[in-house]
Formats: sequence, structure tokens, C-alpha cells
Amino acid sequence: MRPFASTISLDEARRRLDAHVRPIERRERVALADAAGRVAAVDVFSPIDVPPFARSAMDGYAVCAADTAGASRERPVVLRLVDRIYTGRPSATPIHAGTCAEIATGAPLPDGADAVIMVEETAIAGDDRVALLASAAAGQNIGRRGADITRGDRVAAAGDYLTPSRVGALAAIGSVDVEVYARPRVAILSTGNEVVEGGRPLEPGQIYDVNRFTLAAIVAAHGGVAEPHRPVGDTVDALVVALEVCAAADVIVFSGGSSVGERDLIVDAIAARGEMIFHGIAVRPGKPTAFARVDATPFFGMPGNPTSCLSNAYVLLVPFLRATARLPRFAPQTVRAPLARRIVSVTGRHQFYTVQLRDGGAHPAFKGSGDITSLSRADGYIEIPADQDVVEEGTVVEVVLL
Ligand code: AMP
Ligand code: MG
Repeated sequence: MRPFASTISLDEARRRLDAHVRPIERRERVALADAAGRVAAVDVFSPIDVPPFARSAMDGYAVCAADTAGASRERPVVLRLVDRIYTGRPSATPIHAGTCAEIATGAPLPDGADAVIMVEETAIAGDDRVALLASAAAGQNIGRRGADITRGDRVAAAGDYLTPSRVGALAAIGSVDVEVYARPRVAILSTGNEVVEGGRPLEPGQIYDVNRFTLAAIVAAHGGVAEPHRPVGDTVDALVVALEVCAAADVIVFSGGSSVGERDLIVDAIAARGEMIFHGIAVRPGKPTAFARVDATPFFGMPGNPTSCLSNAYVLLVPFLRATARLPRFAPQTVRAPLARRIVSVTGRHQFYTVQLRDGGAHPAFKGSGDITSLSRADGYIEIPADQDVVEEGTVVEVVLL
């Protein structure tokens, strides 16, 4: 056993992680259909006006606004109907004083017209006559050419997170694809002689690999591409080989072997093949967490305990990965609820304590760091700072929803 020489605070761990983020530089072109949730890598300027032509914003009648002066229900102005204009086809008949054309929403405004009177403010006054029951100002109910986007406008900027609406703006200018930053590749690997893949019965002493799946799910949900590997046994040689294999990724995440048991060999593997940046954080769960570099690739050594591993994935890996992927910070939802039962925490460690929300209260749900159900049966967690050791029943706590 080699006890932790010391642990660092959660804040200090976050600072060191932030200092080691290298936002991804690789780019790729993706079809617009796949662009939502990605980050634009270039400025995109519009080659066209949107709308590309002046169009009606209403179903109604295209008119010369001057003709409509003084029109009202009591004193309608009657115009001659010269065309019916549907969407997708410009009209060949110009509008002159005394004439109008029926026009659909989105149809091109005919030459000569400068306003549209909505159908509700008109009445049929004979076969080719329309009575206007209200006046229109020039420009009324018209979407002028380029009103939405003018040719040359910047529709997306490098670094923009592509929301559905930003994808919509790119679609409006006719883009079929867009250059985005690549998603960071995250190599995921579980260590431990006892850890095996699912799909076959367990031998005595074995357990199924949990962390590979929880980590891959987190990575995929926060802008990375998970590259899961098979579990690796507890020898320094095997770990060093695994580090070699994974070093081509943008981020490496191992689990297990990071605590101080005699078989916890991550420390030795990093000594052989990388540079340790910290090992041991004053948090619970998740104290035996390491962060290092293997060549230029950041390396997370997560605890093997599934809840510790996943908790630190939320707390440490998610912000790091999102910054690497150039994604906006993740702001989890929170709710406030009274604590249903007193919690005794550990002093000196920042604690993440899982809770279930029911009957209007937050019920402690933490079983143990090794129990995945500490998290899978929880709705969220509360944070108890390192200098606090008790949270009394009835205290209104802020629950971070999972
Ligand atoms: P370690 O961090 O290697 O000391 O492991 C701590 C505990 O977590 C042990 O009970 C391991 O068997 C368990 N464990 C380690 N890796 C995994 C994994 N990938 N999935 C599920 N449990 C694991
Ligand atoms: Mg182990």
C-alpha cells in the first residue's frame, strides 16, 4: 500500500484541469442534417438575400398603397382583380392604379404593388372586383427582399454552437453542409483482473465492466466520440501498452487501479509513460482520481468504483470534455427541496450526495461508492462543502438533477 501523500481540493483540481484543456483544432465537414449540436469552425456568409424576393406576409390582395387611402368599411375602395398569385411562381401581370391581385402568403409581390391588404379586410364585390375595407401603408404585410438575411451577412461565426435555429439560418441560405470542429475522440478503458465484458457467465471473483458504459454514455452526451477498449489486467506492462494504444485519442479515460492498493498500478504506468498532474482529490466519492498527460494527450485515471467513477465523470470530465470540444458550459438543472433525513458527511472532503425526489422532499439515496444504484436510483445530488459535516433534516438543499 502506498497511501496518498496528499489530496488537492476540488477547486484546485478544477483549476489544473482548466489549465490543461486544449480546444480541438481538427475540423470536418458535416451534412446540415447532422450539424445541430456541433460547433462551427468557420464564419459562414450568405451568398443570397433571404427572402430572395419581396413577398406577401399574408393571404390577401397586393395593391398600390396610394389607391387605398381613406378606405374603410363604410367607404370601401373597389379595385379590379387582375391576377391570382400562388407561391413558387412570380406573376407576369404588373399592378397599376385601380388594380389588385389576390396573393398567398409567401408568394412573390407583383411589380407595381407596394402593400398587401389581408383578406379579412376585404370583400368580394363582383366577378373581378374586390372591395378594400381598410387602407394600407406602403410596405404593409410585405417581407422585403433581404429583410431576414442580407447577402454578405454572417450567418454563423467560427465557434458558434449550432442550435436548431442556427442550422435553420444555414438552411435558409442554401447550405448543404458546414465545416465544424471534430468531436474529441475519447479512449475509454477499464482496468482490473476481475473486470470482464458482458455476454458470458462470470467466473468466481469476476464482475462485469460497468464504467466503460457509463463513461461512454457521458462522453457521447457531451460532444465526444467514445472509443471503448476491452478491459486490461493489473500489470504495469499491460497498462503501458494500453496507454500507447490510447495515446492517439484526444482524451484518455481509464478506470480502476487509481487508488493505493498494491495492484493499483496507474501511478506506475504513468510514471513509465507520462507525467502526473495530480493524484487524489478531497472529494467523496471519487478521491482516488488521477490526471496526467501521456505525450500531449490528457489522461483521466478514474476510480474503479462505479459511482465514484461516474460522479467524477460528471464533475470533472464533462467540463473538460466540453471545453475540449468547444461546447458551451453545461448548466445542469437544479431544484430546491427540504432534506428528508439528516446527512452526516465527511469533513475535509467535498461530498456529492445522491438523493431521490419524492413527496416534496430530497431523500438521501447514497448507498456506497461501489454501488451503481447510488446513482441509478437517484434523481440528483446535493453538494456538501468540505468544511461542513452535517446537513440537518429539513434544510432546504439545492439538488442538481442528473
Ligand atoms: P479499483 O479502483 O481498481 O481499486 O476498484 C475499486 C472497485 O471498483 C473494486 O471493487 C473493483 O472491482 C470495482 N471496479 C473496478 N473497475 C470496475 C468496472 N469497470 N466496472 C465495475 N466495477 C469496477
Ligand atoms: Mg482495480
